[in-house]
Amino acid sequence: MVDQLSFSYEVGNLMYASHGEPITNCLQCGICSGTCPAVEFMDHTPRQIIGMIRADLKDEVMASNTYWTCASCYYCTVRCPAEIDIADMMYALKRYSMWKGQFQAGLIGPDFSEAFVKMIVNSGRSFEPLLAATYLPKFSAGDIIQEGLMATGLVLSGKMPLLPKKIKGLKKFQQMVRRIIPIGEPS
Ligand code: SF4
Ligand code: SF4
Repeated sequence: MVDQLSFSYEVGNLMYASHGEPITNCLQCGICSGTCPAVEFMDHTPRQIIGMIRADLKDEVMASNTYWTCASCYYCTVRCPAEIDIADMMYALKRYSMWKGQFQAGLIGPDFSEAFVKMIVNSGRSFEPLLAATYLPKFSAGDIIQEGLMATGLVLSGKMPLLPKKIKGLKKFQQMVRRIIPIGEPS
């Protein structure tokens, strides 16, 4: 009988196909945390998150905003002395979090991710006005007015379409994507 996989093993598997060494090689030196431009907004630093994964603190990691706050700048990845792809680990945690439906309440990231994937599966293209609907309710009235003015300018200048468009060969694209993404059933 196969034992249940540990959280650290599952995250390691998600990162298997990416570049870099496994997180078990982390020296806990903290260079990633010292490098990260977004660290002040994170519940746990990148170094701490790696330590928590290695300790199999799954619920604590899933409740953290750290990987949703990551800006994917890759500074940590290029500076890590152990050659760990920390930025890709943040992506792996996002995928895992969406897969398990376990994340911190009130974050924009999970709603935005789900809306984005469903939109791509349904049309093969990104359509910003539809995406905006997922995060505008979390903005202040002033921000919404500012976003609305910017969107109007983009539509009037022809840089953003008024209606969504679909790609050619959408059915084949959907078949391909649905092999790897368990959400986003085409409507
Ligand atoms: S820089 Fe690399 S080795 Fe150092 S704590 Fe971060 S992940 Fe670990
Ligand atoms: S990739 Fe993410 S975790 Fe790494 S330095 Fe940039 S913002 Fe920080």
